[in-house]
Amino acid sequence: MRIECIAIGTELLTTRRLDTNSVWIAERLAELGLGLHRKTAVGDSREDLAELLREALTRSDLILTTGGLGPTFDDFTKELFAEILGVGLKENAQSRADMLAFYEARKRVPPPANFKQALIPEGAEALRNAVGTAPGVYWQDPPGHPGKRILMFPGVPREMKRMWEEHAVPRLRPLAGRPMHTLRMVVGGVPESTLDQRTQEVREQHGHLEWTILASLTQVELLARGVDPEALARARAAFEPILGPDLACVGEGNLEDAILDRLKARGETLAVAESMPGGLLASRLTAIPGASQAFLGGATVYSATAKTALLGLDPTLLAAEGTVSEATSRRLAEAVRARLGATWGLAVTGNAGPGAEGDAPVGTVHIALVGPGATQVQSLNLPGDRNEVQLRGAAWSLDLLRRALGAQGR
Ligand code: ATP
Repeated sequence: MRIECIAIGTELLTTRRLDTNSVWIAERLAELGLGLHRKTAVGDSREDLAELLREALTRSDLILTTGGLGPTFDDFTKELFAEILGVGLKENAQSRADMLAFYEARKRVPPPANFKQALIPEGAEALRNAVGTAPGVYWQDPPGHPGKRILMFPGVPREMKRMWEEHAVPRLRPLAGRPMHTLRMVVGGVPESTLDQRTQEVREQHGHLEWTILASLTQVELLARGVDPEALARARAAFEPILGPDLACVGEGNLEDAILDRLKARGETLAVAESMPGGLLASRLTAIPGASQAFLGGATVYSATAKTALLGLDPTLLAAEGTVSEATSRRLAEAVRARLGATWGLAVTGNAGPGAEGDAPVGTVHIALVGPGATQVQSLNLPGDRNEVQLRGAAWSLDLLRRALGAQGR
C-alpha cells in the first residue's frame, strides 16, 4: 500500500515553522506496520495544491493531509479535493453543533466564516475534533478512485495528534502490516565513516533489517528497523563485541543518560568546571530528571577571574600555564572535585573561536578528568565554528567520563 503525506501551509516553506506533523505521522504509521512513501510540503496556493492532490490520487492508496481546514481564505483543502473529485460540499450537522458548542463553552459567538468548517465533501465522513473547531475528513473510495482513502487533518499539531488516535488508528489498523521495531545504538567518540566501515560486515549479515547511521555533532547513532524483535536482538548481540567500549547506550537515551545511570549504580558523584563549553555539560546533565542523585553541580569558570575567585586557582600560576591548557584543566578538575566533595571532577578549557587565544588555535580543547585512582587529560583539535566546537567539546568530555566509568549497554 502506497502512502503519502501532504503538509499544507506557506509557513512550512520557511525556517519559521518546520513540518513536524509528517514526521510524527511517519512514526505512528511505522508503529502500525505501515510505511510512508512520500511527503511533501506545499504553500497555501490553490494551483500548487490542486496539482499535488491530482498527482497524489494517481500514485497513492492513502493520502494524508494536514492543514488548510480552518475558516480563513487560505484554507481550502476540502474544497479542492471536492472540486477535483467532482462533488459538492454539504454541511455536517454534528460538525456544526460541535463548533457552536465549542464557542458557547467559551461564551463567544462564532464568526460567520467559521461555519464553513462544518462543510464536508459529499460522500466523505466528518471526524470530530475534541480540542478545536475544524473537523477532519475521512474519505474512502472517493468517486473514480475505488480502494483509495483520503484522511484530512487540521494543521495544529495538538488537534492532528488527538484526531489521529481517535479516528485514524481505528480506521488504519485493519490495513496494517506487522509493526516495525527499532534498535538504536548510540556510539561515542567514533566518526561516522569509521563506524560505517567497522559495522559494514555485520550490517550485511543482517541485511534484512533497514540500517541507518545518523550522525550529529555530539554522537553517532546506528539504527536498525525490522518487524521481528528477535532479529533485532540477534543484531544487537552481533554488534556489541564489534563496538566494545565505543557503545554508549542501547535504546532510548544519550551519553549523559549512560553516565548518570552508571554513577548512580556505583554510588558516585560528579562535579564539573566549564570554561569553553560555558555550561553545556551542566545543561545536558540537568536535562535528565533525577540527575541530582549523581550530579552535584559545578561552575562556569569562563574568565580568569572566575577560575580564581570560584575555584581558587593561583592567578600567577594561571597566567604562567595559560587559561587554555592541560595544566589549567587539571587544576580546575581537582579544585571543583575537592570543593564539592565529588567522586569525579571534570573540567574543560579551550578556544572555540573565532580568534586565536594566546597560542591556542581555534578548536583547541583540553579535557581533564580526576577521579578515584587516576587523572586523565585529553587534548583535541576540533573542527567547526564556535557553536560546533563548544558542542563537540562537551560531547568529547562526556564521552571521556563515560569510558572511565565503563558506562555501556544501558
Ligand atoms: P487548520 O487546518 O486547523 O486551519 P492550518 O494549517 O490551516 O490548520 P494554521 O493556522 O496554518 O492552520 O496552523 C496552525 C498552527 O499549526 C500553526 O502554528 C502552524 O505553524 C502549525 N502547523 C501547521 N501545519 C504544521 C505542520 N505540518 N507541522 C507543524 N506545525 C504545523
